[in-house]
Amino acid sequence: MPVTVEAVHAALSKVHDPEIKRPLTELGMVRDIAVDGDTVSLGVDLTTAACPLKGKIEQDVIDAVKSTGAKTVNLDWGVKAMKRQITEDDPCPGVQNIVLVTSGKGGVGKSTVATNLTLALKRAGCRVGLLDADMYGPSIPTMLGVSGRPAGNPNGKITPLERFGVKLMSIGFLLEDDKTAVIWRGPMLQGALLQFIKDVEWGDLDYLILDLPPGTGDVVLTLSQRVRTTGAVVVTTPQDVALADVYKSVSMLKKVEIPLLGIVENESYFICGNCDERHELFGSGGGEKVAAFAEAPLLGQIPIDPKVREWADAGTPVVQAAPDLPVAQAFRDVAEKMADRCSVLNARRAPSLTIDRSGGTNRHLPIAR
Ligand code: ADP
Repeated sequence: MPVTVEAVHAALSKVHDPEIKRPLTELGMVRDIAVDGDTVSLGVDLTTAACPLKGKIEQDVIDAVKSTGAKTVNLDWGVKAMKRQITEDDPCPGVQNIVLVTSGKGGVGKSTVATNLTLALKRAGCRVGLLDADMYGPSIPTMLGVSGRPAGNPNGKITPLERFGVKLMSIGFLLEDDKTAVIWRGPMLQGALLQFIKDVEWGDLDYLILDLPPGTGDVVLTLSQRVRTTGAVVVTTPQDVALADVYKSVSMLKKVEIPLLGIVENESYFICGNCDERHELFGSGGGEKVAAFAEAPLLGQIPIDPKVREWADAGTPVVQAAPDLPVAQAFRDVAEKMADRCSVLNARRAPSLTIDRSGGTNRHLPIAR
């Protein structure tokens, strides 16, 4: 039996995305199937360049295509990101995903996680921007070694600064000097934040990461009312004292219906250079407890490593400066899981297009009992 495009398509309709759990064909991930004798060529578009399961998808696709009798399979990889909900009046319609990085209180490593996740996504091939919305303590300029003033452009927008190929905006860029205090009234803070989202020329991005001020409910509320975000990552430490605050920030996100992408437990453990043993200095299990409460996955545990602070102080996040360190790998794993979770939540929201040809017998009205 000769291999046909129809047979290849039918075989691929049985291959499911491992996370989204729907057929690749239904998700629009398969394109340009061409058959030449027993050679099949096709394109597969991943839902994110930072896809952790590319290897599995590749194997499943090759197995399915070969089941039709093909001997050689040529794959052309691409990326077609699944988008957040983008309404007509969206402030940044070119941005496919907006991810909030939040914490219950300061000092748990929220900005460290935000910058390293951003760099990990960039290094995986994603187009990314980072908005330092921590107006009280903007630390992104230091962590990324950037200073300077963003300029206006002819479209009346602000051109973001750039470092390591990441578009950047921070209130820190607009301050006279980094020792000047800024006093923000709530509405001013929210106004400035919305302006940063709307008036900065973000262009086309796969991910815009927002480093939010810790624990401020009003900021989250405003965001939830003005822009459709993909979801939030909550950063915590294993310490019990951190937990009460972090539960509050999780429940706040739930109240304003911002989806929870997952929990990151930072400063989880320390590997001693002398004995090579794992020491859980601040206790253990905090991240898991918060994840259970949030009904969201624990995206990962980041160890304490003095290199994280040293490289941040030197203006280059550890993921960029020393990508082979275990702590950089931990950040990368978190970034991939987070990217995957964005695709899952976006796909879950976008209902699959199925046409009801039953003439009405398949339709059910919800009945309140
Ligand atoms: P937050 O944004 O929550 O206030 P930061 O990201 O500014 O916290 O981190 C506070 C300090 O802790 C910084 O000096 C940072 O370099 C350091 N730090 C954060 N995470 C780690 C880690 N995993 N290992 C070592 N130092 C860390």
